Amino acid sequence: MRAARIHEHGGPEVIVVEEVPEPEVGAHDVLVRQFATSVNHRDIWIRQGLADATFQYELPKTLGIDVAGEVVATGAEVAAIQPGMHVTINPFIACGNCWACHRGEPARCPGFDIFNGAYAELVAVPDRIVIPVSRDVPPEHLACFPNSTITAWEMLVGKARVTPGQTVFVWAGTGGLGSAGVRIAKLAGANVIASAGSEKKLEILRGLEPDLVLNHHTDDVVARVMEYTEGRGVDLVFEHVGGATWERSMQMTSPWGPSPPPG
Ligand SMILES: [Zn+2]
Repeated sequence: MRAARIHEHGGPEVIVVEEVPEPEVGAHDVLVRQFATSVNHRDIWIRQGLADATFQYELPKTLGIDVAGEVVATGAEVAAIQPGMHVTINPFIACGNCWACHRGEPARCPGFDIFNGAYAELVAVPDRIVIPVSRDVPPEHLACFPNSTITAWEMLVGKARVTPGQTVFVWAGTGGLGSAGVRIAKLAGANVIASAGSEKKLEILRGLEPDLVLNHHTDDVVARVMEYTEGRGVDLVFEHVGGATWERSMQMTSPWGPSPPPG
């Protein structure tokens, strides 16, 4: 089968499409033929060889976090997943046995890792992270869903515990994380202010129906937020950018952050 691998760190030119052996399917594994995958920042950082240990892997390495495909084979011990199913995965792998996993907080698991290897025609994944999906979901939608949407959900629901009536500001609301942030905050019943950096992106952002749309390059974002919230500031900032936005994020946040829930 073919896979897109890196043998050295660098720009996109270090990615090589080449023949590699098909993955072995263990007793608890599911073999998926990939329809599509995505490019996440983590893929880019691993390709570039960022110094942080979480981005360091032995080379050659097949990149890719998001799986979107059809099951073609299953291991002897796999019961719930059958060939022919369309599936994706939860790419966040925890040990399942430590104190953090037992508390339902897998992101704090000392053995926590993120799946890699989706840039291949065939991918073998442990059955416990496989999620069956409807055949109606377009492959390209499925392929860009798991990593960004699970991360956004963990930020807004798991950590910030967003509630109806709160006001949430989302930077860069057309990106993978940002667009998931807008949708999840709206789903939770929050008022959503979201930003984008060009006319074209603002038009796309309006399609997600946030309550207020701002251009983070040309608008005085903090002033507009303060005006919209009548001087109070927002309860939550969906901060996934960092250096360029951090100061404004702090300035637009209501003192003490979220208001206590009503009642
Ligand atoms: Zn664990």
